[in-house]
Amino acid sequence: KRSRLELEKQHEQLRTSETSLTNAQRIAHLGSWQWDIETNALFWSEEIYKIFGLVPQQFEATYQAFLERVHPDDRELVETSVAAALEGTPYNISHRIIQPDGTERSVNEMGEVLFDDAGAPFCMVGTVQDITDFRKIEEELRRSKEEAEQANQAKSRFLSSMSHELRTPLNAIIGFSQFMQHNPNEPLTSAQKEYTDDIAASGEMLLGLINGMLDLAKIEADQLHLTMEDIYVDHIIDESLMLVGPTAESKGISIQNCTSDFPPVLIHTDGLRLTQVLLNFMSNAVKYNKPDGTVTLASRETEEGYLHISVTDTGLGIPQELHGDIFKPFERLGIEAKRTIEGTGIGLTVTKQLVEMMGGRIGFESEYHIGSTFWVEVPLASRCNELLWTNKLSVGVQQVDEDHKVLISLLNELSEPGLKAEDVDGIISNLIDYTLYHFRREEAVMKACGYPYLEAHRKVHRHLGAKVGQFAEEWRKDGGAELIQELLEFLRTWLVDHIMQEDAEIGPFVIGKEAEVERALRELEI
Ligand code: ADP
Repeated sequence: KRSRLELEKQHEQLRTSETSLTNAQRIAHLGSWQWDIETNALFWSEEIYKIFGLVPQQFEATYQAFLERVHPDDRELVETSVAAALEGTPYNISHRIIQPDGTERSVNEMGEVLFDDAGAPFCMVGTVQDITDFRKIEEELRRSKEEAEQANQAKSRFLSSMSHELRTPLNAIIGFSQFMQHNPNEPLTSAQKEYTDDIAASGEMLLGLINGMLDLAKIEADQLHLTMEDIYVDHIIDESLMLVGPTAESKGISIQNCTSDFPPVLIHTDGLRLTQVLLNFMSNAVKYNKPDGTVTLASRETEEGYLHISVTDTGLGIPQELHGDIFKPFERLGIEAKRTIEGTGIGLTVTKQLVEMMGGRIGFESEYHIGSTFWVEVPLASRCNELLWTNKLSVGVQQVDEDHKVLISLLNELSEPGLKAEDVDGIISNLIDYTLYHFRREEAVMKACGYPYLEAHRKVHRHLGAKVGQFAEEWRKDGGAELIQELLEFLRTWLVDHIMQEDAEIGPFVIGKEAEVERALRELEI
């Protein structure tokens, strides 16, 4: 027999846990309910009354009375969900309710049926959470996104008309000045020739600046569209050499093409844009060279499946302390000032953006007074089945980005040709483990930064996790190449879509909360 003291202690414990439950429900605006199907008695926790704007003493909770509080347009949804639950399918729905004073609120409701030993439903349990505030934020976000999209469209209309309005007269200025320079019927005096040279050169420079600025603005407005195709690199190299050749020659700079065109290398890129990139490198290598200098073009395939193309000059070089500024817009390093080399400092900024959009990489090495090598790496066509990490996939949270990179590389391992069944087994189980680990980390990040849609996002994670698990199961049952292809396809679209749409929304919430995020992730590791 228990002593009085023990009983009292037990009561006290019960009271404490009840209080913490009530507090938890109040804080989360989350109430719980229980409905006895036989007696039709409905029990609501305190919080549900609050959510419905009702007073327990003045309201008898029954299923009918509850239905009357549901927004008329949502009643059918609630009723069909409850009916389905009675058949054994739990529900998780959002609907609106009307409080006695007419105020409309949004709730998320979950419910499921408990069955007795004979398999008959005897009771239903569930929760109701007030999500009106979330909905408001969601609506605001949607509206600002729409506004931003409209602004973006206006910007792109402005850009295309500006590009036309600016380029047309400028082309006339350049064209007529060149015509005057070369018109044999009306030869110019030497002073006039000097002026027209100046007009043409300034016009060219202005045109370069306008083109660069328009490219940058388009990239920023997400309006620069690439045409990615499989293309032989020597076509692009020949084209660039042809375009830069005359300038190099007029400056006494020799260009050496050390790229080999046999066997032909097929790369996956936008041909026009890659030509623009190489032209930028080569014209810089010519411009910032020494008299009688050389420019060397070389290429090699890298182990990671890229073609590495480099442009090396024997020119001025870039002082170490200025290396960090090279890709910044309008940054001219000043070394050119005394030589009055024409330029705007926008070319490399555009180039870097283009390369990254095309799934490539860019970089340079340079030694002051010795020369520079600017290089670019573009995906080989044979490897373009692979998903390449580009800046576009960045969600703005370094730790999440790192995880995504690991997932992408695991995915790429799976698409390598000639894998044995046991390799595939290993990669798939790594993929599943890492995916789940990553979800836990990402959810910790979301929680730490107060991301408002954690629950919805978690649901997506659960769904994706289940789907990957399902694939793995099927693979184990009768592993066929088709299934792997299907899995790859699914993972690839999922990764890209999920990262770019849902994950990208986390970024803004992390700003200013980096320390909290860091801490949360560290705690997860313990
Ligand atoms: P621009 O050549 O029109 O000034 P870029 O963006 O192409 O613009 O280059 C930015 C700056 O980087 C140049 O102004 C120059 O100072 C430096 N730079 C670029 N390429 C080289 C090079 N090959 N050698 C030395 N300096 C270079």
